[in-house]
Amino acid sequence: MIRVDPDVCVLCGLCTGVCPPNALDLTPTELKVLPHCTACGWCVPYCPVGAISGGRPRRR
Ligand code: SF4
Ligand code: SF4
Repeated sequence: MIRVDPDVCVLCGLCTGVCPPNALDLTPTELKVLPHCTACGWCVPYCPVGAISGGRPRRR
């Protein structure tokens, strides 16, 4: 399960462009993780403020 900490997320939208199944939805007030997120973990290292956690470890 992927989690976004709303107290840390600055709503920059960077992560939304890297999610393979497009499961991150940026609204004016929050970043939503949509139900079809596969918890692949790909987006985690792209967040400049470290707001995303969880998912499978990235291989490289
Ligand atoms: S864990 Fe994978 S599927 Fe889920 S939001 Fe991040 S990149 Fe997208
Ligand atoms: S990259 Fe991080 S700070 Fe930017 S919208 Fe995504 S979770 Fe929020």
